[in-house]
Amino acid sequence: MHPFSYARPTEVTEAVHELAGPARAKFIAGGTNLLDLMKVNVEQPNRLIDINRLPLNTIDELDNGGLRLGALVTNADTAYHPLVEQRYPLLSQAILSAASAQLRNMATNGGNLFQRTRCYYFYDTAMPCNKRQMHHSDQITGTGPAGCGALGGYNRIHAILGTEASDGTVHCIATHPSDMAVALTALDATIHVTGPNGDRTVPIGNLHRLPGSEPQFDHTLRPDELVTAIELPPQGFPDHYTYLKLRDRSSYAFALVSVAVGLEMDGDVVTNARLALGGVAHKPWRKPEAEQLLIGRTATREHFQPVAEALLEGAVGYGHNTFKIDLAKRAIVRALGMAINKEKREEGE
Ligand SMILES: Cc1cc2nc3c(=O)[nH]c(=O)nc-3n(C[C@H](O)[C@H](O)[C@H](O)COP(=O)(O)OP(=O)(O)OC[C@H]3O[C@@H](n4cnc5c(N)ncnc54)[C@H](O)[C@@H]3O)c2cc1C
Ligand code: SF4
Repeated sequence: MHPFSYARPTEVTEAVHELAGPARAKFIAGGTNLLDLMKVNVEQPNRLIDINRLPLNTIDELDNGGLRLGALVTNADTAYHPLVEQRYPLLSQAILSAASAQLRNMATNGGNLFQRTRCYYFYDTAMPCNKRQMHHSDQITGTGPAGCGALGGYNRIHAILGTEASDGTVHCIATHPSDMAVALTALDATIHVTGPNGDRTVPIGNLHRLPGSEPQFDHTLRPDELVTAIELPPQGFPDHYTYLKLRDRSSYAFALVSVAVGLEMDGDVVTNARLALGGVAHKPWRKPEAEQLLIGRTATREHFQPVAEALLEGAVGYGHNTFKIDLAKRAIVRALGMAINKEKREEGE
């Protein structure tokens, strides 16, 4: 493992200052992703800034009826918090579908957002990988040959949407791995960030990015910024929701395809709809035009299918992952049915 120095600040300003210091410094929270990447030399920080002593570990009610989740609250404490369970059960369900109880006890809300792709070629420095190789002074990767091992390789877990750069070329077909981020996208969360230039907020839909011709960048945060909290708006869809996660094993596995749904209903008629997909793109996939197709419609299968078609418009398969296009459409129709029907949701059907 590459040698590194270590700091453990207790104030947010101190942590941000530390990051702006020597090159290749990196925050560490739960360490459940970063340490794995360091062990295989994919991440090689010169300095680790342990943020676990920062005062960012509370969940607070907001005056507008929303909730503020501290960046250092663990995934377990978030999922089981009574206010999250009551008002945002979609988020609890998504978090609890991820990893294992032990990992969720260590993993933090901030770290979860920035966990890196599970593309097998990204983890293997002997294989070509543009995400790992395309070096940037702020990035700490840059090992191994350039190219994309997955494009002509075994790409069963890879992306089917948003893979092309503006000139039609494809540099990376990795997917974003976080389940929590998919639920946060459906909930329209806001990310609170601080850096040397002060505080700012980023809508969750703008936090992660598509690979384009710069797949080395997973997200839009500046290299010297720290996430302090995640803000949930008042509408949490507690009556009609589901997080459907399809995977090769029923636990302890990442999503092949996942669907987060939140609906508001007036009798049988949908009055508000949110859908986000995981496992299909370099970021959680949301398309408000597809959601609009449901508004004012009765919640029946015939009205669900066009939503699935609209969300998957433009999808491209790369061989081993082509099955995902059909799987995602079926998952959307099924998830909408589950969100409406409480009994089915509780049976996990
Ligand atoms: C075996 C296994 C199975 C898993 N299965 C799933 C799964 O099914 N679904 C799923 O969603 N996840 C899964 N995970 C991933 C797990 O959820 C993440 O590793 C975890 O959420 C990362 O959080 P952390 O606090 O440990 O982050 P760390 O590993 O500490 O950090 C991750 C990254 O985030 C950055 N960072 C951390 N906090 C902040 C902050 N506040 N501001 C800015 N940057 C920050 C770090 O610099 C680092 O780059 C799995 C992990 C393992 C090991
Ligand atoms: S899909 Fe992306 S992360 Fe995977 S090998 Fe290709 S460039 Fe690397």
